[in-house]
Amino acid sequence: MNYELDHPEIRHAVSKLCANFPGPYWQKCDRENSYPSEFVAALTDAGYLAALIPEKFGGLSLPLSAAAAILEEIHRSGGNAAACHAQMYTMGTLLRHGSETQKAQYLPDVASGALRLQAFGVTEPSSGTDTTSLKCTARREGDTYVVNGQKIWTSRAEHSDLLVLLARTTPRDQVAKKTQGLSVFLVDMRDVLGTSLTIRPIRTMMNHATTELFFDEMPVPAANLIGEEGQGFRYILSGMNAERILIAAECIGDAKWFIEKASHYASDRTVFDRPIGQNQGVQFPIARAYSQMRAAELMLKQAIALYEAGGNPGEEANLAKLLAADAQWAAAEACVQTHGGFGFAEEYDVERKFREARLYQVAPISTNLILSYISEHVLDMPRSY
Ligand SMILES: Cc1cc2nc3c(=O)[nH]c(=O)nc-3n(C[C@H](O)[C@H](O)[C@H](O)COP(=O)(O)OP(=O)(O)OC[C@H]3O[C@@H](n4cnc5c(N)ncnc54)[C@H](O)[C@@H]3O)c2cc1C
Repeated sequence: MNYELDHPEIRHAVSKLCANFPGPYWQKCDRENSYPSEFVAALTDAGYLAALIPEKFGGLSLPLSAAAAILEEIHRSGGNAAACHAQMYTMGTLLRHGSETQKAQYLPDVASGALRLQAFGVTEPSSGTDTTSLKCTARREGDTYVVNGQKIWTSRAEHSDLLVLLARTTPRDQVAKKTQGLSVFLVDMRDVLGTSLTIRPIRTMMNHATTELFFDEMPVPAANLIGEEGQGFRYILSGMNAERILIAAECIGDAKWFIEKASHYASDRTVFDRPIGQNQGVQFPIARAYSQMRAAELMLKQAIALYEAGGNPGEEANLAKLLAADAQWAAAEACVQTHGGFGFAEEYDVERKFREARLYQVAPISTNLILSYISEHVLDMPRSY
């Protein structure tokens, strides 16, 4: 894997930083189900989590390709950016649709690390992927909105100060289209935690710091409404392309890690007096995963190029996420198989990365829903929902 990649200096610096957080660090966090605070602090101090924040607000003013390179290198090094990646794409909602006052109030502190913007509350237990059916409500009372309802899978809420929240401000039966009447709020959870906001952690098959949120008459200042009331679904959708691109970059990083790990092991491990990698039955799944990864990487590059040129690359961003997650999963499977029994041993990191990789077939958008997007919005087949 020795071809030229964009942002080589950033990649080199991120990979150097990640070298301070080797396998045993991630194994310990995984075993104890603890948040990788030291890793997130190091990334914040180096400014990487503020990559997309404009310089005038204390960030690095870097393009999306740089953010993608940062996340890819974290995963390629064997780490996991899920502990903090939302700060990159969640911020887009505030950047694109927030007022100048909101940006000036929050972004400098987010850029410096004084304030954490890591939580994004969209999914609910009863509505799932059908976002416009969500039940969480926000009713206006003078200068305040009062929020009631529940969210599920709100990751990193315990490690974030701010939450980007999607709630219904006009009942679904009172709007012409179900996508209307939803609004986005920037909630300062420090003001309400333990009173009208309850956070309950959910244990998962990997260490992900995800939670359930319960809102009971939770006040949010009207000044924290992002953009216009009722337009929130559009704002959330507008961030989806960037989110798909950044997640695809993480999947590519994982695929590279699995492929490298598998090919090295296949060359070193000797059974029947020869390296196992001399058997084509061992070589081919790794070579196939590599081919899938390279193809996905090209699609990712195209999606990024279109995005950075100011386009709205829904098709390419979705394809990049789909292909990268599939390449990652093929590489994960080949890596476990190549390692035989050692693929299941904690100290090799393979089993941990395998568990972590599985998520990207489901979240932040499931494979089926991407295929549905391609079928209906790209290929013009009849709508299924
Ligand atoms: C670890 C983790 C972290 C997460 N973090 C966040 C977060 O920070 N913030 C947040 O808001 N959400 C988060 N999510 C939620 C995630 O985005 C959803 O789990 C995902 O979108 C799927 O929704 P669901 O779980 O409700 O599944 P459902 O919508 O119930 O779907 C279940 C299955 O049915 C399939 N399906 C459903 N409808 C259709 C259809 N019409 N056609 C074909 N197949 C269909 C889906 O593809 C899926 O495989 C997280 C989830 C996990 C597991």
